Amino acid sequence: MSPIIAEQIDLQPLNTLALPARARYFSAVTHVAELAETVAWAQRRALPLLVLGGGSNVVLAGDWPGLALRIALPGRSVDAEGRVEVAAGENWHELVQWTLAQGWYGLENLTLIPGSAGAAPIQNIGAYGVELADRLEAVRGWSIDDGRELELPAAECRLAYRDSIFKQALRGRFIVTGIRLRLSRRFEPVLSYPALREALGDAEPTAELVERTVRQIRQSRLPDPAVLPNAGSFFKNPVLSAKRFAELAAAYPALPRFPAPDGVKVPAAWLVEQSGWKGRRLGAMGVHDRQALVLIHYRDGDGRDSDGHGGAELLALAAAIQADVVARFGVALDLEPAVYPPAG
Ligand code: FAD
Ligand code: NAP
Repeated sequence: MSPIIAEQIDLQPLNTLALPARARYFSAVTHVAELAETVAWAQRRALPLLVLGGGSNVVLAGDWPGLALRIALPGRSVDAEGRVEVAAGENWHELVQWTLAQGWYGLENLTLIPGSAGAAPIQNIGAYGVELADRLEAVRGWSIDDGRELELPAAECRLAYRDSIFKQALRGRFIVTGIRLRLSRRFEPVLSYPALREALGDAEPTAELVERTVRQIRQSRLPDPAVLPNAGSFFKNPVLSAKRFAELAAAYPALPRFPAPDGVKVPAAWLVEQSGWKGRRLGAMGVHDRQALVLIHYRDGDGRDSDGHGGAELLALAAAIQADVVARFGVALDLEPAVYPPAG
């Protein structure tokens, strides 16, 4: 059976920033067997692979010269011990709702994160004090080097703050086909984030209430990509050494800070806002007026983009923000989304 490959496919509907880009070849895979054949097809032609889930954490900076592979593998199940097997193509938010509806707890704080389950380990998704690493048992995937499916225990995935082995040593070499989570019948609320605690007030924090409250906070603060195309946080929160942080905090006593494993985490949103970028717009791209970490692609009124409204324009805005934050605070901000084709 030969893989089903389409040519010259428009990727604009497949990325939440709605950036215009075409893939020379495109395939959506729904079976692991198809995945093997499709990867082999691309390898025979020496075509670079762009793996896509929901397209909510990518910047398409131009057309893709190889094969764009959408991972649409379906399926999920839970056993009596709360082990949840999820295929990579499942929608993350629907998974959160599904586990909660069955009385399996642990994913409440991660509600409403767009994208696929398969992408969740790539940047170790996190929100409101919980990250995937807290619930993950293993990742299954297709090793491009070996041409076979294998399983990595969570301890081998090097999960860190918005980082993993899949963004580092295994970048471009491993396609996630599924994940296994471990959830619990006992609900243990994680209420470390002030916004969540304040919104809950004195109410008894049931799992359903925490999920609903996180969802409401997110809906009030974050733009819906279907209305204002975006990729969530555009910059990672920098983690500064204790020494560097002390110097900066002396100059800026109001600088918010949070302890991190390797130093002190500083909110990138604060740095961007203090640099005067919140709510600013450059052409078709801008910084959201309620959340300075979110860059928006303001689409033309008729929903079509002119050639200029692409990833390059968005990356120019990001570079201008990064330069101002360095000039003012001496802090480098790293991009959170992956850029395709990669720069250089
Ligand atoms: P994509 O954007 O399709 O891909 C992202 C990266 O993962 C790419 O490098 C891609 O090649 C790779 N990838 C995708 N699937 C696979 C696979 N099966 N195998 C190998 N590589 C793969 N993130 C958070 O951590 N916390 C949040 O609270 C959060 N909130 C967000 C809110 C909004 C409004 C938006 C738009 C984004 C938000 N994000 C958040 C970012 C994003 O939702 C997550 O990073 C999500 O996991 C991306 O999933 P995706 O399927 O869309 O991945
Ligand atoms: P917020 O609650 O206003 O907090 C601002 C920043 O302070 C966040 O970046 C958060 O770091 C940090 N923070 C707050 N309380 C903390 C605590 N008790 N311990 C450690 N760090 C703390 O943030 P927000 O922008 O509205 O987002 C809320 C949550 O959703 C955050 O966890 C954020 O990461 C997540 N989110 C992520 C994306 C994305 O695309 N990655 C998009 C939207 C929201 P962290 O970001 O490290 O948590």
